[in-house]
Amino acid sequence: MKKLPLLTLISWICFLFYAGIGIFLSGFLLVKVEVNRTSSCRDPLFSENWSLNIYSKNVSQNQLVDFCWSKPRFSRAVILIIDALKYDFAQFDSKVKDPQHFQNKIKVFSEYIRSSPANSRLYAFRADPPTTTMQRIKGFSTGSLPTFVDIGNNFASSAILEDNLISQMQKNGKRVVFMGDDTWDSLFPKHFQQSFPFPSFNVKDLHTVDNGILKHLYPSMKRKDWDIIIAHFLGVDHCGHRYGPDHPAMAEKLTQMDQVIRSVARLIENDTLLVVFGDHGMTDTGDHGGESQKETDAALFLYTPSMLVSTEQGLAEPMVVPQIDLTPTLALLLGIPIPYSSIGKVMVQLIPSGDLFDHNAQELQQAEALFVNAKQVNRFLETYSLVAKHLPQETLDHLQDMYLKATKNYIMLRDAFATHSPLNSQELKKLISDFHVYLVSVQEMCKVSWAQFHSLQIIVGIIVLVGSCVVCFIVSEFASIVESSYKELLFLAVFTGAFASGTVAIFQFFWLEFEAFSVLGTFTVVAQVAFLWKFNHLKNSNRYFLNRAVNIINTALKGELQMTSPLIVFMVFLLRCASLFSDSYIVAEEQVVSFLLSSLGLFILVHLTWYGNLLHSFIDGFKTTNPGMSSQQMAFVKDKKTMHVLVACVALLMFSLCLSHVFHGCRDEQVICTPSLFLAPLCTLQDVQLRNIHYVLSVCSLLTSYYLVRRWLCYYGNFNSHSLAVFVARFELPLLVVCICLFWAVSSTPEESFVNWQQFIRLASSVFPRVAFVLFCLGIAAVFWNPLTVFVKPKVLSEEGPITQSYRASGCVSPQAELQHLIPHIYQCMRRSYQVPKEEGESLKDEYYQPTVEAFGLGTVYSAPMLLILVLFQLLLALLHPEGLALSFLLMLLEAFAILQIHSKTSSLYRCRLYSDKFSVPWCVVLMWALASTQFFYATGHLPTFPSIQWNAAFIGFSEGHSNQVLPALLVLLNTFSSCILLAVSCPLLLFWPLICEPSNTAKSGSKLGELKSDNIPVMEMKLRDNPEYFSRALLQLMARYLFIHGAQLLASVCAAAILKRHLMVWKVFAPKLLFEASGFLVTSLFVIISLILIMRVDVCLTRWVKQLIPVDSR
Ligand SMILES: [Zn+2]
Ligand SMILES: [Zn+2]
Repeated sequence: MKKLPLLTLISWICFLFYAGIGIFLSGFLLVKVEVNRTSSCRDPLFSENWSLNIYSKNVSQNQLVDFCWSKPRFSRAVILIIDALKYDFAQFDSKVKDPQHFQNKIKVFSEYIRSSPANSRLYAFRADPPTTTMQRIKGFSTGSLPTFVDIGNNFASSAILEDNLISQMQKNGKRVVFMGDDTWDSLFPKHFQQSFPFPSFNVKDLHTVDNGILKHLYPSMKRKDWDIIIAHFLGVDHCGHRYGPDHPAMAEKLTQMDQVIRSVARLIENDTLLVVFGDHGMTDTGDHGGESQKETDAALFLYTPSMLVSTEQGLAEPMVVPQIDLTPTLALLLGIPIPYSSIGKVMVQLIPSGDLFDHNAQELQQAEALFVNAKQVNRFLETYSLVAKHLPQETLDHLQDMYLKATKNYIMLRDAFATHSPLNSQELKKLISDFHVYLVSVQEMCKVSWAQFHSLQIIVGIIVLVGSCVVCFIVSEFASIVESSYKELLFLAVFTGAFASGTVAIFQFFWLEFEAFSVLGTFTVVAQVAFLWKFNHLKNSNRYFLNRAVNIINTALKGELQMTSPLIVFMVFLLRCASLFSDSYIVAEEQVVSFLLSSLGLFILVHLTWYGNLLHSFIDGFKTTNPGMSSQQMAFVKDKKTMHVLVACVALLMFSLCLSHVFHGCRDEQVICTPSLFLAPLCTLQDVQLRNIHYVLSVCSLLTSYYLVRRWLCYYGNFNSHSLAVFVARFELPLLVVCICLFWAVSSTPEESFVNWQQFIRLASSVFPRVAFVLFCLGIAAVFWNPLTVFVKPKVLSEEGPITQSYRASGCVSPQAELQHLIPHIYQCMRRSYQVPKEEGESLKDEYYQPTVEAFGLGTVYSAPMLLILVLFQLLLALLHPEGLALSFLLMLLEAFAILQIHSKTSSLYRCRLYSDKFSVPWCVVLMWALASTQFFYATGHLPTFPSIQWNAAFIGFSEGHSNQVLPALLVLLNTFSSCILLAVSCPLLLFWPLICEPSNTAKSGSKLGELKSDNIPVMEMKLRDNPEYFSRALLQLMARYLFIHGAQLLASVCAAAILKRHLMVWKVFAPKLLFEASGFLVTSLFVIISLILIMRVDVCLTRWVKQLIPVDSR
């Protein structure tokens, strides 16, 4: 086979798609420019051009000359962050008779509010999405809004460079002591005087972080060598992830937190502020990340023994406080500058100090705080609009007006106060509300304009993707032409592309700003155009185009119904792409895809009946039950049998489709939906019997999938060889299965039950998966190293009866393998093909016609290692999922089998009538394969939303956390795109399967053993080796078709996101779907290439093997 053109063309297609995705995303994903400037106390509050004469005369110098609050209300603060402390958790309602596990457990807040209302406050604390911990820490410390892209950085949290509270504290001489979630240490390296970080990523561990904090918290508080203590508890969050909120463990955890807050509040002194808050909430399943109110609403509790809020306040207090508002509030209360990029609004109700009873003076102080706040926000806006030009100028001007007007009023009032003239209370109130409106409008504008898009990149990205689809389609449909002249095509494309992009780069370098995307865009667009132009001007392609068009018209005119087939398939594909444009169809994508998939299955049956193939054979089959059948009649009987198999396979497909719905997860948008029971890890099941049943089911499904593959290998005689691949199948796979089962057993034991065995259980739950990983890697390496599963039986031996018997007794050469797949024919065919080139040089030897050896498993030499790799991946991926999903993986295997069988039976029924192209795999089947890959994305419990990513996968085998970010990211990636991986890696089976199933059709019909020249010889996959050119072409076509379908889906998703970019659901539905589709394409293309490499590896080994065999045996 031709290896180079195949690999080059496929990588070329992949590159084009990657470039398109990259360009599009660079324009679509919102990027907020970081302003790397910091506030400082010495920043002047008043611009020089304001008349300040009265002001400066009358106000003492230490008041308001600088940006800091002159006399901070608190000199110290204790900040307790209880991760995922939902607002519901913090409320206490004595009326609830039968509280859920999370209800009424934290009583301390309500007790303090009742007993000392002037000293404490409880608010709902609303976070901006994404509600992930790192984003929240960033948001609260900088006072800024995160953008969509940031969400991916959760694993690579690096230091915050923007101005933030913590660095301001440090700069202003506050001694900060930190304890808890180690994310802080990486976000604020060297900012703490003392820090006690604990690993945060193991969500199964409920206690390490919290107990670690408790060990240091009270001693530190008593030592008094601190100004700020920050403690970040993770237990509640981890408990939510592990068990969900309504679980006894949560009650225990919340009670513990209640105790902690109580003890800390008792230790607090008058000059100290206690702040307790949750960084985000959680859903009913205990997850977070999205923007539903359950995830955004946390609790914020403030307490101090001195007076916190004056009880006779004029202002109505808000019930809900945005999270970013805490930033300026804390800054002003502690007397440090507000971080430069903060757009938060100070919580004015906390501003008047407790001893001020003069109403007007209080309000003046509030106005003063708002003025400082507004001044800082305005300064940030000015700087930001210089750095990034996407803030709308009109709004900016309007805001500037508001700000100037309010400031003027403030200075006038301030002057009036300074000259002891009576203050107009009405005016003061209006001023406060003016500042308020200004700050809120700034927040609004930032929220809107940080959702800006770069239209040019978006358009170029779409153009490149459309071009990639066209190129991919041409490669798939004209595989032979493209392959034979790939050098000219690619050379011209790359050369012109490089020339054009080089020109653009030079031009930009000297005269404009250099932009990587435009260079890449020029390269790909020009290269695509050149590719298509060259293709159109190839010598034979014009004629080919014409021929094909004429053919299509001819058949259509003749009214041959076979032409409906591509039409219907095209319709189904169109519907699939169209469904990506509707948010409700994306929400219900699982149902859409399985509907389309089962429609295709049924359509094949209907179409065969309509076309006469099924009906024909059915009726004729009944007629010819009498003996003495002609060979034609025999063929009909066989067709009838095929038909039965076909119907059974369609039924199997429908069955596994229906059953796979059991494993679905739930999106926020689906109101009536309960997530599958199988998605929860076994340890969360409280019913022991149910847990045991689930465990047995999972183990059985692992064993079944292993058994099925083993049976298959035995049946085709691949199980006797001494190669490493067979060694993997014989010993490593069972060992891997055992490892996984043991790991599941260990990890699902409840912690309470074997207290004495804790140490052992912890050890075992990290050792077993690691062993499994090592086994998996060894297995993959072994299969690639030595993929041949051919067993050679010398003829000399086979003539002596007993030895053959002993092979059979070993149990691994099934009787069928002996009868049907005993491969003398294959071997001869192979030898003939090997010797044909020699024919010119030397004369043929006589032994040529007499088989000297017999080789088992040669007929499935390509698909056997493919199947092994498939099972290896299946086991690995099952390990990375919750235990219950092992069943889903078995279903996937069955469904893939059903599709393969449908494909091979259909093509044997259509034989030479429709699919006249050699080895060509029809679109219909490729589409089914691609749809199955989407469908099993859902059936393995995944959803195209960020909160639904199964982060737990990163800690399987690494419960104590990771030292680097590559491995966890890889594990989560494998977990998320498992369906893409499995179906992409096994995609070439579509090409092999009809050939494998061939002998059972042809072997019985006439050909005797040893008959050589007949075309009926069951040579199975050796047929591919006999026609190496067709082989690589068919492979190229198959891969290009598979990539095309995925690429076109990606294009549809991209277009949907681009067209609907102002849609209400864009960040909730379309953009996440697009990102999942894009990463799915990356993974798919990568594994398609891996499977290609495997096939080439087999091919190389086979050639070497044949070369070795011949000289030895013919000597
Ligand atoms: Zn959190
Ligand atoms: Zn969490």
